[in-house]
Amino acid sequence: MKPEIISLSGVERSYGQPPIRACAGVTLSVAAGELVAIVGPSGSGKSTLLNLIGTLDRPTAGTARIDGMDVHALSDAALSALRAHRIGFVFQQFHLADGVTAIDNVADGLLYTGVPRRARRTRAAEALTKVGLGHRMTHKPGQLSGGERQRVAIARAIVGDPPLLLADEPTGNLDSASGAGIVELLHELNRQGATVVVITHDAELAARLPRQIAIRDGLVVSDSAAVTGAEVAA
Ligand code: ADP
Ligand code: MG
Repeated sequence: MKPEIISLSGVERSYGQPPIRACAGVTLSVAAGELVAIVGPSGSGKSTLLNLIGTLDRPTAGTARIDGMDVHALSDAALSALRAHRIGFVFQQFHLADGVTAIDNVADGLLYTGVPRRARRTRAAEALTKVGLGHRMTHKPGQLSGGERQRVAIARAIVGDPPLLLADEPTGNLDSASGAGIVELLHELNRQGATVVVITHDAELAARLPRQIAIRDGLVVSDSAAVTGAEVAA
């Protein structure tokens, strides 16, 4: 069996006073090399869960092991290093810098990794080629379509070759054709070896991925990878 890259056990995250449990006790594991959808309606705790998996936030209860590291035991600096080297993030709103070329937006994905500037740009060019934007290196976000902007954001997420790629509603701002292209690209990156977790409220999108974990009110309500009684009996 492949090693677990994500292992959550009884993970909770509360906000405010009186506390609201946005994540109410989640136990799940994802093996290296999987392509997984976390699916649930708006407000079900998907982004909260993604922030916990991405080590942007620590659980208020339970344990989160990401890439073999116990998030609770790591300092802020160690968590930043884990994120910079081991995790790529993609968001619904792209989060690209306006007025900055595609290649420099992507190269900035290596800012905190110690790679020298020239090498950052070389690797950015390679990443843009990988996402099908080799012909758009010097375009700025305002000169690109939504689908192309999301490809730039994905190139920035993968430029450091992280083993784990996390995408929060990556097609939420795209028309269906561009969105389908982004889903196909995520499949391709997974075939090349990345573990990919896609957060979505879109059941149709989730159905196109090999595994679906459904959440509601901060809890896992179903997991297509879970072994059922019928399978055990068979
Ligand atoms: P989703 O991504 O599925 O829409 P979220 O994880 O963003 O859900 O939010 C889950 C719940 O936690 C919601 O009720 C939301 O209002 C609440 N919540 C999320 N972030 C915060 C925060 N920073 N402060 C207070 N409440 C929050
Ligand atoms: Mg969300």
